[in-house]
Amino acid sequence: MNERGVYSFCMCPGGFIVPAATANGEVVVNGMSPSKRNNEFANSGIVVEINVDKDIPKFEHFGALKGLEYQKTLERLAFTSGGRTQTAPAQRLTDFVEGNLSRDLNPTSYQPGIKSAPLHSLLPKLIGSRLRKGFEAFGQKMRGYYTSEANVIGVESRTSSPVNIPRNENLQHPEIYNLFPCGEGGGYAGGIVSAAMDGERCAEAACV
Ligand SMILES: Cc1cc2nc3c(=O)[nH]c(=O)nc-3n(C[C@H](O)[C@H](O)[C@H](O)COP(=O)(O)OP(=O)(O)OC[C@H]3O[C@@H](n4cnc5c(N)ncnc54)[C@H](O)[C@@H]3O)c2cc1C
Repeated sequence: MNERGVYSFCMCPGGFIVPAATANGEVVVNGMSPSKRNNEFANSGIVVEINVDKDIPKFEHFGALKGLEYQKTLERLAFTSGGRTQTAPAQRLTDFVEGNLSRDLNPTSYQPGIKSAPLHSLLPKLIGSRLRKGFEAFGQKMRGYYTSEANVIGVESRTSSPVNIPRNENLQHPEIYNLFPCGEGGGYAGGIVSAAMDGERCAEAACV
């Protein structure tokens, strides 16, 4: 889709959507499931790939932190459209794709609650239109996926780091001796396993 992927991440059967903001004035959601996976809901992050060098020219003046600033605008948007609390903006899946405000929403596992909002028009086109096409494509491939019984809840904006700290072939920062940018925050992993593997590689490199 415009050479940018739309894919599911961290599908949690029998899990919960949880608040994951780290500062005032933002709403960030994430998903998790306890080991019994016995909650009545399932959730999954749906990711739209963003190329920070091509997709967000208006943020160019933020330099290396442009992706971070873009991420913040999405999280502030979720905060204001959710009602300026940790309540998250949401829409029924079919309403999101068809461009309708939801009159009511499905029950949710997200404890702070959800509020109907026109996410289809609030999200930047770059994200919203790709998501909508992605949901339609998933629905064509998987029977039952495209349903009004699912909520779209915003925003899961921290699936990977918007910043990439440079490192050389020895995994060290090219200018700061003995600094090993590592894991998700450094821009070298996204998720538990890739972060753990990168951590192991960096630990080995630091011991040489
Ligand atoms: C609710 C939730 C559910 C998730 N579910 C999944 C999942 O199902 N599958 C999956 O693959 N991934 C999941 N993730 C993502 C996964 O947790 C991360 O990708 C992974 O933990 C990244 O590992 P990391 O070591 O790079 O960073 P982190 O685990 O964030 O570790 C960074 C560490 O640095 C410490 N730190 C930060 N700043 C400083 C400082 N200034 N000084 C000293 N220490 C500092 C922090 O306290 C932390 O311990 C989930 C994340 C969340 C929040």
